[in-house]
Amino acid sequence: MLGAMATSKPPITVAITGAGGQIGYALLFRIAAGDMLGPDQPVRLRLLEIAQGVRAAEGAALELQDCAFALLDGVEVTDSADRAFEGADIGMLVGARPRGPGMERADLLAANAGIFGPQGAAIAAGAASGFRAVIVGNPANTNALIAAAAAEGMPADRFTALTRLDHNRAIGQLAEALGAPAGAIERVAIWGNHSATQFPDVSHATVAGTPVDEALAHAFGGAEAARSWLDEVFIPRVARRGAEIIEVRGSSSVASAANAAIEHVRDERMGTAWTSAGVVSRGEYGVPEGLVCSFPVSSDGDGYRVIEGLALDDRARSRIEASVAELVAERDAVRELGAL
Ligand code: NDP
Repeated sequence: MLGAMATSKPPITVAITGAGGQIGYALLFRIAAGDMLGPDQPVRLRLLEIAQGVRAAEGAALELQDCAFALLDGVEVTDSADRAFEGADIGMLVGARPRGPGMERADLLAANAGIFGPQGAAIAAGAASGFRAVIVGNPANTNALIAAAAAEGMPADRFTALTRLDHNRAIGQLAEALGAPAGAIERVAIWGNHSATQFPDVSHATVAGTPVDEALAHAFGGAEAARSWLDEVFIPRVARRGAEIIEVRGSSSVASAANAAIEHVRDERMGTAWTSAGVVSRGEYGVPEGLVCSFPVSSDGDGYRVIEGLALDDRARSRIEASVAELVAERDAVRELGAL
């Protein structure tokens, strides 16, 4: 009877692109161990790679076998997007074209349109009806837009972009400043693009039930000092944390990015009262309809929904507008390429 719980549910198929890369390597083992879908949910993994990445993905597949995970119901490595997404329930779109030296934004967007467009089409053609995808590969918001546009017949809101790492980074910085455990901090929000223009917003946040603004004023000896810490230290540090990690660690954030992707999918499926994610705007907070923009969101287990009705002061509005303007420029550039 041992393990009967683990095998009673039908397996969920997860397709991971760029699975032979660094983030892929940090994702696979945690998914197979049950961290994303639960300790009684069998999982099948499809690892999609381009030709140069296939051997690395195959190596990871050998190691997965050597872990003998009870929940792992099969691993397949492929360089075919059609095969990777055939019958898939979840997509984790990690593989993307990084910005090379001297590469212009238009070149970067064109290269990624050539990746995320065909993947969106493969998803529309073959994924399971309840399929949902998280886009990790940068520029994540616009790559999500491209994939959603190419997935004809599939609702656009099935595609979301990862800003959970920014959300978690904001919590980490507040926890340190307040001397509080990360678990005591709630209702942080990331608005806008997953880029240096993002707005990490603490104006609705609480620490052990107390407004964070009040707790910061106490910690910094006044509201004004707390405000300058937020503007001059907290916001830039969260927005540029990726660069800080590269400088200190000597390579980009990997485990924290994989962790955030796992939490994004887990909370979308299991439900959450409050987190942050890039979702298709329906015009909430004046964000143009159809853009994939980060908002504070909740989930009842059936997809993320924007938390509406939050009060925003002028300072917050102008920061959000600046980040949204960047998203609009990216969308327009992709439109010019004919990828939307
Ligand atoms: P990583 O696994 O480190 O990163 C993959 C993507 O995640 C990058 O676009 C990266 O953006 C993005 N990312 C998002 N958030 C973060 C974060 N906080 N920290 C770091 N990265 C973040 O890259 P690798 O080069 O190791 O692996 C990429 C793999 O994808 C390669 O094996 C390649 O072959 C594969 N690939 C697969 C494709 C496919 O399946 N069709 C298409 C293209 C590539 P950023 O560049 O901004 O750091």
